[in-house]
Amino acid sequence: MFKVQFNLFSQLDLHPDLLRGIGALGFETPTPVQAQAIPPAMAGRDLLASASTGSGKTAAFLLPILHQLIGMPRGTTRALVVTPTRELAAQIAAELNSLARFTPIRAATIYGGVGMAPQEKALRRGVDVIIATPGRLLDHLSRPYGNLDSVEFVVLDEADRMLDMGFLPDIKRILARVPARRQTLLLSATIPSEIADLTRRMLKDPVRVDLAPRSAPASGITQTVYTVAQGEKTPLLVSLLESGEVQDALVFTRTRRRADRLAKQLVKQGLGAERIHGGRSQSQRTKALAAFRAGRLRVLVATDVAARGIDVEALGHVINYDVPGAPDDYVHRVGRTARAEQTGDALTFVSPDELGTLHDIERMLGNKITRAEKPNGSGARRTQPNGHNEDSTSNGAPRSNGAPQSNRGPSNRGRSSGPPNRGRSSGPPNRGRSSGPPNRGKSEGGDHGRQERAPKAEGTSRRRGVGSRRGTPRGRR
Ligand code: ADP
Ligand code: MG
Repeated sequence: MFKVQFNLFSQLDLHPDLLRGIGALGFETPTPVQAQAIPPAMAGRDLLASASTGSGKTAAFLLPILHQLIGMPRGTTRALVVTPTRELAAQIAAELNSLARFTPIRAATIYGGVGMAPQEKALRRGVDVIIATPGRLLDHLSRPYGNLDSVEFVVLDEADRMLDMGFLPDIKRILARVPARRQTLLLSATIPSEIADLTRRMLKDPVRVDLAPRSAPASGITQTVYTVAQGEKTPLLVSLLESGEVQDALVFTRTRRRADRLAKQLVKQGLGAERIHGGRSQSQRTKALAAFRAGRLRVLVATDVAARGIDVEALGHVINYDVPGAPDDYVHRVGRTARAEQTGDALTFVSPDELGTLHDIERMLGNKITRAEKPNGSGARRTQPNGHNEDSTSNGAPRSNGAPQSNRGPSNRGRSSGPPNRGRSSGPPNRGRSSGPPNRGKSEGGDHGRQERAPKAEGTSRRRGVGSRRGTPRGRR
């Protein structure tokens, strides 16, 4: 099959009245996401598109819907766009009004902070397109007039942000009110694993447009893979902590249930641990995070969604207790270390059934992650690097898209110029800064044990001395 290159909007076979609107907006050339998404979406296919912010995703979903709406009778709400914020809803409405200027298609916005009455009127009148934020839309749907029974096109815009903001349960409730026979378009800057999961249930055989920039972890991060049986993951973590190899760590699990169980197991072993995930209240999360930052806990166990909005200052270790389901999540997780000093360790525990996922991640990274050595077949020992490839210049180095480094020097690895206490307990000005949108403490839903697998109890030998390459104990003391 060959790929058609669309250099001009006029090549896209859009309705002439839409081409006029596009011209009036000053658009000439479709952006890459538009060129790839519009043709299949015009043909009625579901769509899963990821492309960075500012890449033109709005017109990528509006044009194919407007094109299909043009020939249909007015007076019925046939399209619904769900977006996380009222600002975005207003922007989408403005772009729609420009694109549809020479068509009879009309749109209305529905979001909070303004009166319900005009929105109710638009719904009753059957405005062609509703552009809504989830909360206010659900308010309307709880009224007698509120229904989406005639909707044929649904757009979930900025899906990753909606997820971060805790809108997943709302979205599920909204979609339950839309006929199953519909075209669904999902757009997002990134496709984290929760969205990948979501799409399996919400989209039908979607066309995938994947233009999200492939990021790589900061170059100063040492990445290591431990191949370990599922049932040996906890003993391995305990032994890393007990040997001092790992002083403190943010540990990621795939599900809430696994986070709960791991934290419990660590506490039982006398290791201070707490967990944060979507099933914990905001105050529980805040408390856990504060205790970890203050050094009262050595381990914070987290799920991806819970960790996304937080920023723990200059962590020494990130441990993937479970391999993340989506390659992007790997980069996100690993990026939690090496913030300040640009150095850090990312350890990934990989059970045999997770090898396929690991290979996907390595394909994205463009290289193989260093395997920890396994002496006498029982313990996982980290390969002792020879020190020749010591990287002492990574401080403050910009993030690079190059291959992540592994196997840097054995001891303090050029850390001497960094703050000795890793900036946790003496209060650097940027401690606790939050990157990303505030997590509103709503449920992240979905991951409640869904992918849970029973750990296999194989080989119970305790590990000893999982490597003592760290001469100087570090951490928050
Ligand atoms: P995204 O949703 O991907 O973040 P937007 O759809 O908001 O991006 O588009 C970003 C900006 O680019 C907007 O100002 C939009 O008007 C403009 N834009 C979109 N498509 C084109 C195009 N084909 N040519 C020129 N400008 C465009
Ligand atoms: Mg957008």
